[in-house]
Amino acid sequence: MTSHIMPTYGRLPVTFERGEGMWLFDENNKRYLDALSGIAVCNLGHAHPAVHEAICTQSGKLLHTSNLYTIANQELLADKLTEKAGMDNVFFCNSGAEANEAAIKLARKYGHSKGIENPAIIVMEKSFHGRTLATLSATGNSKVQQGFAPLVEGFVRVPYNDISAIELALESNKNIVAVLVEPIQGEGGVNIPASDYLNKLRGLCDQHEILMMLDEIQCGIGRTGKFLAFQHNAILPDVCTLAKALGNGVPIGACLARGKAAELLTAGAHGSTFGGNPLACSAALAVLATLDKENLIEAAQTKGDAIHAGFTASLNNNKHIVNIRNKGLMIGIEFDKPCTELVKLALEKQLLINVTNETTIRLLPPLIIDNEQIQLLINTLTAIINDYTGQTA
Ligand SMILES: *Cc1c(COP(=O)(O)O)cnc(C)c1O
Repeated sequence: MTSHIMPTYGRLPVTFERGEGMWLFDENNKRYLDALSGIAVCNLGHAHPAVHEAICTQSGKLLHTSNLYTIANQELLADKLTEKAGMDNVFFCNSGAEANEAAIKLARKYGHSKGIENPAIIVMEKSFHGRTLATLSATGNSKVQQGFAPLVEGFVRVPYNDISAIELALESNKNIVAVLVEPIQGEGGVNIPASDYLNKLRGLCDQHEILMMLDEIQCGIGRTGKFLAFQHNAILPDVCTLAKALGNGVPIGACLARGKAAELLTAGAHGSTFGGNPLACSAALAVLATLDKENLIEAAQTKGDAIHAGFTASLNNNKHIVNIRNKGLMIGIEFDKPCTELVKLALEKQLLINVTNETTIRLLPPLIIDNEQIQLLINTLTAIINDYTGQTA
């Protein structure tokens, strides 16, 4: 049987029919422990009743009106998001790439407002910002760019977690108007920078009057133990992008801005047909309310640390493990060699994981993971890893 889907994805041989919390069930009702959450999307787990109810109720009232009119849910969501993030306003869209497109356009407008005709944005090695032309050009992974030249101009690349590289770039290039960076790199291998990296970056951005733009699409919405990852550093960016977990599976993206950055995209400068529609916003409102109601953000920290401690102990004797790291429930287990095969081996044991940057297992379990599931995750994955590396548990 030939598929009529464009072959853009290397898919695993399983089809899920329904989900419940951290569990997914396939067509034969076999259940799988989902430690990836649809790549950091279903932070509340699958089929969360609050999200279910919100979108059912909203779809019976109104799905879409267009942004030609005021949208009550969008106003409400913008109020909640800006309050939680310490930002001033929001542009709503439908995906992470679109949120970053908005940020990139905003940065260029900022440059032109300062009389810079060829504005440039500092971006990082090993970063991931999306698959549209501008965002793949910003992305620090040649595989993502392969075959799509000419790339969008106006990006200057530096190593991640290297403040002096940014200083150097700023000294040698007067066209730089912004820096776009993930507080923790997701696709690049769960890379956690020095704890004061964002603070120093904030200082540099102030000193050079450039915009600090944070891509929180993967690390945001409670995953790292704060609502947004930059809140670990007690700083505020000028721009912050969100998507993935914001709708728990209902597509929605957001570009938040503050201060002078909040005044750049004026009427007619940007737009989206679907962006911030009543349905998507109802899901996001339910997500924000549930994170608070179930105290999931603080829990992400303690649960993530428990998982880290568990694997540190259980994999203690495996000499192929280079490093185990986490910030809340963003967890990386790095090997001394490529280990992508583990994804298939785990699937056979009814466990869903991911390997990124070839050598790092990436775990992004839902924030609702319970103690029993934490133990099951540690025991199952440890056995799979030790089996794979040819060692006994
Ligand atoms: C997933 C991701 C994106 C792209 O989001 P899409 O919704 O797939 O367009 C951008 N930045 C980061 C950090 C991501 O993890």
